[in-house]
Amino acid sequence: MYENLLANVPTDLWIGGTWRKASDGARLDVIDPATENTIASVASATVDDAKAAVDAASAAMPGWAEKKPRERGEILRKAFELIMRDAERLAKLITIENGKALSDSRGEVAYAAEFFRWNAEEAVRNLGSTSRAPSSGARILVQHKPAGVAVLVTPWNFPAAMATRKIGPALAAGCTVVLKPASDTPLTMLALMPILEEAGVPAGCVNVIPSRSSGKVVSAMLHDPRVRVVSFTGSTEVGRKLLHEAADNVVKPAMELGGNAPFIVFDDADIDAAIEGAMIAKMRNMGEACTAANRFYVHEKIHDEFAKRLTAKMGSLKMGNGLDDGVALGPLVNKEGLDKVIELVEDAVGKGAKVLTGGTAPGGKGYFYPATVLANVPDNAKMLNEEIFGPVASLQTFKSDDEVIHRANDTEYGLVAYLYTKDMSRGLRVSERLDFGMIGLNRGLVSDPAAPFGGMKQSGIGREGAHEGLMEFLETQYISVTW
Ligand code: NAP
Repeated sequence: MYENLLANVPTDLWIGGTWRKASDGARLDVIDPATENTIASVASATVDDAKAAVDAASAAMPGWAEKKPRERGEILRKAFELIMRDAERLAKLITIENGKALSDSRGEVAYAAEFFRWNAEEAVRNLGSTSRAPSSGARILVQHKPAGVAVLVTPWNFPAAMATRKIGPALAAGCTVVLKPASDTPLTMLALMPILEEAGVPAGCVNVIPSRSSGKVVSAMLHDPRVRVVSFTGSTEVGRKLLHEAADNVVKPAMELGGNAPFIVFDDADIDAAIEGAMIAKMRNMGEACTAANRFYVHEKIHDEFAKRLTAKMGSLKMGNGLDDGVALGPLVNKEGLDKVIELVEDAVGKGAKVLTGGTAPGGKGYFYPATVLANVPDNAKMLNEEIFGPVASLQTFKSDDEVIHRANDTEYGLVAYLYTKDMSRGLRVSERLDFGMIGLNRGLVSDPAAPFGGMKQSGIGREGAHEGLMEFLETQYISVTW
């Protein structure tokens, strides 16, 4: 069915600017979640392959780090243009390996490309400073150097953007990288490599090694003294493991982990805007996003109206193969993801939640789950404490600002919170009291390459995007000078 699309997609390991089989010949299957058909077989890297990738990144590092920032920037700019040239092909590839609707994939490709454009501009803004030491009078000269070879580990939910959000700033900073994409969705990054080569990224600067043996392969790289940065996006559980691994060689960590976003609608909110924001915050990527609204708190005075309108919108979404016209809701990425959503909904309903729409998987081929709204979700429902990672909105009511702030903060996560109110002073006051790295104030979308994306508490360490994203790949060096 997708032969034309897949015909030219590479399926081996990209190491040192060449395509290689895995050293033991192992391969992993890529499944289309809409049909459950195997669509490709990709080389699965071993620890030896990972070492070869670090060798390549390490060999390429001096040349890349010494390149003039403007030259690095121009290559990144070219990469942005080439991705946009190939946007439709890449979007379709994302849809067939991840399942998301083509409209979501198109949005992702544009977002992914933007990390190259933004970092093309950041590459020339690696600014230092000079000051005078107050007591000794010496000059304090501060500069930022590329931190070294970076290991990048990314999840399946945004196969393009979660990787370019790391590759862009790493290259801008003068670092070289080894990327291990998620095993469910390795094709998009493999397809990006010829594009980066065409843009002028030298051999060895970006290496891609899908692997079913993620734990062993990543651990081996984090114990290689040439690796100085680990940038991970994925679950808090795996992030914790990698922090332990990184501790042995004191590798600099950047961690983008899980979320449990509250979506708060105050009684003075513009309900039209809140519904529109809710649909984006909940349904972008079918709820398979760390930023997905996981807990809706709606003021009791407007709850029924909000629930009615959200239910109508959610119930009208067309579900099907993400490549088909008009489909807004594709399948979830895999069987585990589907089973988890089914279990969380059954748990909530068993404890008293009321199904307003959806709530039952259709069965048959493909990992489909309908857009679902649950009201009266009890506090002990599992879905209020875990990432749902699916198209399910759980509604609760609240009475006062203090109460909802307390409930919103009552989680170990702190990635993003959304709130809707027409009173800006209330909005800013509440925002300050929310322990989240990002706030969507009258907005259902916070992701932006020009903004510092990241979480507090167990949602992560460090930021991606903005200038902060570049700093994750730089080391600060201070020179004390007498002149
Ligand atoms: P995951 O299971 O943590 O996997 C993420 C990546 O880590 C994959 O490449 C995976 O490889 C790899 N991995 C798994 N176990 C590993 C280990 N022991 N050592 C080294 N690497 C390992 O997460 P996921 O299910 O793919 O993605 C969903 C999670 O990502 C959610 O929690 C979501 O909130 C989070 N996320 C966070 C952000 C953010 O910016 N904060 C953005 C997107 C997603 P395999 O595929 O081979 O298992």
